[in-house]
Amino acid sequence: MLSFETIVAPATPPGEGGVGIVRLSGPRAVDFLEIVFKGKTSAAAMKSHHLYHGHLLNQERVCVDEVLAVVMRAPRSYTGEDVVEVHCHGGIQIQRSVLDLFLAAGATMAASGEFTQRAFLNGRMDLAQAEAVVDLIKARSERASRVALDQLDGHLSRQVYLFSQQLKAALALLEAHIDFPDDEVGTLDLPGLLAPVRELSLQMSTLASSFDVGRALREGISVLILGRPNVGKSSLMNAMLGESRSIVTEVAGTTRDTLEEQLVLGGFPIRLVDAAGVRETVDLVEQEGVRRAREKALSADLVLMVVDGSCPLGDEDFLALELCQSDKTVLVVNKSDQAQVCDIKLLSGFERRVFISAKHGFGLDELREVIVDQFTCNETLSAGEGVVITERRHRDALLRAISALDELLVSVDALAPLECLAMELREALSALGQITGETTPDEILDQIFSQFCIGK
Ligand code: GDP
Repeated sequence: MLSFETIVAPATPPGEGGVGIVRLSGPRAVDFLEIVFKGKTSAAAMKSHHLYHGHLLNQERVCVDEVLAVVMRAPRSYTGEDVVEVHCHGGIQIQRSVLDLFLAAGATMAASGEFTQRAFLNGRMDLAQAEAVVDLIKARSERASRVALDQLDGHLSRQVYLFSQQLKAALALLEAHIDFPDDEVGTLDLPGLLAPVRELSLQMSTLASSFDVGRALREGISVLILGRPNVGKSSLMNAMLGESRSIVTEVAGTTRDTLEEQLVLGGFPIRLVDAAGVRETVDLVEQEGVRRAREKALSADLVLMVVDGSCPLGDEDFLALELCQSDKTVLVVNKSDQAQVCDIKLLSGFERRVFISAKHGFGLDELREVIVDQFTCNETLSAGEGVVITERRHRDALLRAISALDELLVSVDALAPLECLAMELREALSALGQITGETTPDEILDQIFSQFCIGK
């Protein structure tokens, strides 16, 4: 619902910094600036998109801060409404006082995501673009931010629009035959109508399958380093990070907590977890420990199962191996710089194997490649081309559209009436419309925007 209130919120996070920005949007934004701003140019006379220096005064006309103010007049603004931004000094109290000035002048505190919600409601961006704003803010790698920027730029929306256009053309043809069954429009070329529908369904499936990569980019990939004590897990973690952050111990089983570090591999944000704390959990007799380790292995996107190539395999190795699912495990044979006595033939079932020396740094490039390949294999997207979907909501909408088209093909085989086929096409269109927001129910919209931060 469009609102006529003028909203205000801090646009920069609370804390100390060079500048803090307070933002307003709505029909009275410029009036409110006029009330509190004192400079050479009055707010009403400010040119759109120009910065003006001045002071903000409270009701007693006491200076609250020295600022730069900018007015962005509708419709050329983020929200499509009049927007004002005040760049004040970046301190918690200053920003609070500036906010209070505007609240006292009559502005209303913005709800989470309300600026972006207004941008959506005013047609400045569609829903997929609005969602990309959050992804962009939260992106933890360059590649993740590029995908978000592409989405913000409308790449996904355009793709969905193209799908919709073709479905609408097919629907128009069907409706013409429903409305005028036996005259002007001639006989219906059903195979001619279905061929593009089949092709569309395939294209949608390809797009839906890009979600695996998209999710990994958006949420990051959790990689667990598992193995019995002393196989070189911490050394591997350090080598991957390129610096000595976790402690490497000479003594097996020194108790340490599980360590988690962030890094970027092949553009994917990775959370690397050294399950050093699993030391006691790999203790065979400890049921609870085994349960915890299994839980960690289950929840990880990928497990690096480390064994020591310079020792024979022992019970603890086999216990750790039992916790791994072969399809998401890479077997890492460490200490390959030493004579190899570990009988890796016993480790059948783990096809992906990499021989490394964490201490001397070899085999690590191959390991990095294997990790990234796990998330980009059979994807043409690995090179960065193509549209990638990052939201489960978009994937689900695509799957609903595909399923409606599948139903349509079944109905055709069953010689169902044209009305039935038209209904399935409409269903596919409605599912696609949920991605861009045309057909998204209000409660879902509210839920999406409530995930934004205040001021965005
Ligand atoms: P963790 O208990 O599994 O975390 O094992 P650590 O990383 O603490 O390593 C245990 C011992 O193995 C340390 O003395 C390391 O220096 C040594 N180590 C780790 N990686 C290698 C390797 O690739 N080659 C050799 N020769 N020793 C290693």
